[in-house]
Amino acid sequence: MPRLFSAIEIPAEIADRLAGLRGGIDGARWVDPENYHITLRFIGDVDGTTAERFCEALAKVECAPFALNLDGLGSFGRGRPRAVWAGVAPSGELAALNRNHEKAAVLAGLGAETRNFHPHVTLARMKRVRAQDVATYLSHNGAFLTSAFEVTRFVIYSSRASRGGGPYVVERAYPLTGRAI
Ligand code: ATP
Ligand code: MG
Repeated sequence: MPRLFSAIEIPAEIADRLAGLRGGIDGARWVDPENYHITLRFIGDVDGTTAERFCEALAKVECAPFALNLDGLGSFGRGRPRAVWAGVAPSGELAALNRNHEKAAVLAGLGAETRNFHPHVTLARMKRVRAQDVATYLSHNGAFLTSAFEVTRFVIYSSRASRGGGPYVVERAYPLTGRAI
């Protein structure tokens, strides 16, 4: 069964800046720059029919190109950090796009997402690192800010079946040609 998620790709010049943030937390696994992305909707391991339904529903999403920029760093997992990420500056277009991907997932027969959408680019994953090391890293690098970049398409990526992880493969690409949402 394919393991899928929809996402926005990160342009090379922004990925280069993010790559400059690699290193500096003992024991962290740093994401390869070609795998940087912003997840819109995690689908997980699904059968071919569900995957096809999700693809079809996404094809009906209307959205015009829009600009995004990355602003700030943070972590998931308070006392036991499990990821360090770059945040996305608030964007109404991105929030609307996420809502449309959520609708497409439900149309495809998947359960509704109950967690809030927190758009980010994961930079590192970790299991047993010291929370203090993450706090120190964030205090040194947290003022990270990029210039705006244009989002001109979204994609469906596959990751490694059942276990996840890169390299991610673009399975479908959807150019943003629709009217503004
Ligand atoms: P690994 O699991 O090996 O660390 P990964 O998390 O990148 O790798 P996947 O588990 O396939 O690989 O996840 C793909 C993308 O979806 C990642 O951006 C991940 O953060 C996100 N994701 C995974 N699980 C969920 C979930 N339950 N809810 C929301 N997003 C998720
Ligand atoms: Mg995962």
